[in-house]
Formats: sequence, C-alpha cells, structure tokens
Amino acid sequence: MNNGIMVLVEHLKDAIADITFEMLGIGRKIADSLNVPLFAVVIGKDINKHLPELGIADSILVVEDEKLEMSCPVTIADIIKSIFDNKGLSIVILGCTNTTAGVGPILSSKLKLPFLNFCKNMRIEGDSLIITNQLFGGKILSDVKLEGKRGIISINPGSFPADAGKASKVAPVEEIDLSGIGIKNYFKKYIEPEAGDVDITKESILISIGRGIENADNIGLAEDLVGLIGGAISASRPVIDQGWLPLNRQVGKSGMTVKPKLYFALGISGAPEHVEGMKDSELIVAINKDPAAPIFNVAHYGVCGDLLEIMPVLTDKLKEKKS
Ligand SMILES: Cc1cc2nc3c(=O)[nH]c(=O)nc-3n(C[C@H](O)[C@H](O)[C@H](O)COP(=O)(O)OP(=O)(O)OC[C@H]3O[C@@H](n4cnc5c(N)ncnc54)[C@H](O)[C@@H]3O)c2cc1C
Repeated sequence: MNNGIMVLVEHLKDAIADITFEMLGIGRKIADSLNVPLFAVVIGKDINKHLPELGIADSILVVEDEKLEMSCPVTIADIIKSIFDNKGLSIVILGCTNTTAGVGPILSSKLKLPFLNFCKNMRIEGDSLIITNQLFGGKILSDVKLEGKRGIISINPGSFPADAGKASKVAPVEEIDLSGIGIKNYFKKYIEPEAGDVDITKESILISIGRGIENADNIGLAEDLVGLIGGAISASRPVIDQGWLPLNRQVGKSGMTVKPKLYFALGISGAPEHVEGMKDSELIVAINKDPAAPIFNVAHYGVCGDLLEIMPVLTDKLKEKKS
C-alpha cells in the first residue's frame, strides 16, 4: 500500500523542535510529488497546544497519555507501527536526534522495512525516491534508491529549511486510541544537566577544541586565545571522553546546542553529531589540516593547516594588535 507519509513530531520542554518543521517541509514536498497525504503524528502529554503549528500536514494524528511525556523508543515504535499498518502508510520520517534516536532500528525490525539513517537529502528522480545519507562522520555521501518507495528515514538536523514546514493552515485532528497498543516502557523523569562553572550556551565566543588538539597540555593554546578575546573553551566529544574537559563543555548531539557570535573550531572534523550543536553560530572559523574535513562545509572562514603551528602565530598577532 502507498497511502501516505508520516512525520513524527518532536517536542521537548513545551516546544516543538525545529527538526519537526524540517521534516514536515521535506515530507510535504515528497508527499506532493507522490500524490499521497502527509500525516503529522504527535505523541505525548498535554500536546493540544502544539497542534496549530502543524497545519502543513493534511492530517494530525494525536496519541496522548500521561506516560508519554518523554519518548521511549520501544513504545514509540509500537505506536508508529500500529498507525502505519492501520493507515497503510509507506514512509516514516523521524529526526536523527537524541529525542527519537533508537526508534528507527526498532521500527525497522517491526515493520520489516529498510531504515536509512543520517539522511541529508531526499528527491524524486523519475519513478524513484532517492535518499542521500551522510556516512563516516559526514565524509561520505551515499545515494540510496528506496525500493518500492517504502521505508523509515531519519533526518539529520539542519539538512532542510525549517520554514518550509510552517503554514498558517489548520489541519484536521484525529485522536488515536491506545487501547490496542499498551504502554509497557516509559520514562519517569527528565533530568537537566547542570551548567557547572561555565554555561557554554550563554557565551558569545567559544574556542572549541577537537581531537586534533592531540593532548591535554595543548589546551593551553586555546586558553591563550580566550585570554585575548574572551569567551570560554568548549569541545567535541572525544576531548570530553578523554577527561580533558568536563561534560558541561561538550557541544553537539549528546552535549549542548550553542549559538555564539564566534565559534572557533580547532582540530574538529565536523561530524554531523558535532555540527548539529554549533551550526547556527553567527561566525564559524575552522582550523583543520585536512582540506576535506566536513567542518569546512559549515565554516565561514577556514584555515587549512596545523593548529599547533597556527595558534601561537595567531595569538602573537592578536597580542601585537592589542598593544
Ligand atoms: C549518538 C552519538 C552522539 C554523539 N554526540 C556527539 C556530540 O555531542 N558532540 C561531538 O562532538 N561528537 C559527538 N559524537 C561523536 C562524533 O560522531 C565524532 O566522533 C566526533 O565529533 C569527532 O570529534 P573530533 O572532530 O574532535 O575528532 P575527529 O573526528 O578525530 O577529528 C579530528 C580532526 O582534527 C584534525 N586534526 C588533527 N590534527 C590536527 C592538527 N594538528 N591541526 C589541525 N587539525 C588537525 C583532523 O584532520 C580531523 O579532522 C556522537 C556520536 C554518536 C554516535
């Protein structure tokens, strides 16, 4: 059957996440090309207030329960499977985010359909639906033809314009009865990470270091720059995992989302999980010795070279200017 496309609406802390509008925008485009309806599926507690924002869909399906305040992958997959089968859908669009990570693979095994992760583009070519996926931390792009135009696709945040998923229309709402599904697993509470000594989400300048900094002693190079231009030091995940900086300094999917005026990326490759957390920075300057590093795709200014050589020169020049 090919009766439609569904988008799983993401919402956290009383707001709809931007990824939802990205998904609705591209979902609308593909649904129109295939001439099938687009469903926005909202799962949660107290979700009615979100519905007016989802008017670009042809229909909004609401699944509401106390226990669904946060998403639990197995439960969400069960709910989506039930909707998918009942409506005879063909495509599920999910966000490749912390909120719904885990749903795609479970759903794939339940529906016996392919799961395409890290999608950054979707297009119709002739009679085929082609999905472009980012592999190996964004270094390889692969085009996959979705067999029978049926499958589960998880979208990398920042891949599509969010504005394309917004409309001032009102879509009909249908409540989905949960009685046949049952909620076996659910989250009990949401625990906010502590900001600690520095809240990197509030800083207007971030000097961010990646694995290219090589060892903890070299963090002094970034500290010298902070001493001159202000701001704070943040980092990619490997730096945190090594224990060189505390967890509250991590930028990215499993860290913080930051939007400073200036973001220095020193020895950071630009994997999608990192870029997700810093792509909206006003000015991004990257130093990396690999000219093909994906960070250069989001940087406004890029320096291809060894940061261990460039940083001392940069700080000397800034000192000169200051004096
Ligand atoms: C579920 C999940 C969640 C994740 N969450 C996050 C997250 O929140 N944040 C995050 O950052 N990552 C996250 N990751 C990990 C992510 O996939 C990457 O592995 C990570 O971002 C890579 O960090 P990096 O760029 O510092 O290291 P690498 O990918 O190893 O890149 C190091 C870069 O430094 C450059 N380099 C090396 N030496 C020098 C030098 N002397 N001068 C200049 N350049 C140099 C290299 O060319 C390379 O590009 C997550 C992964 C998963 C699966």
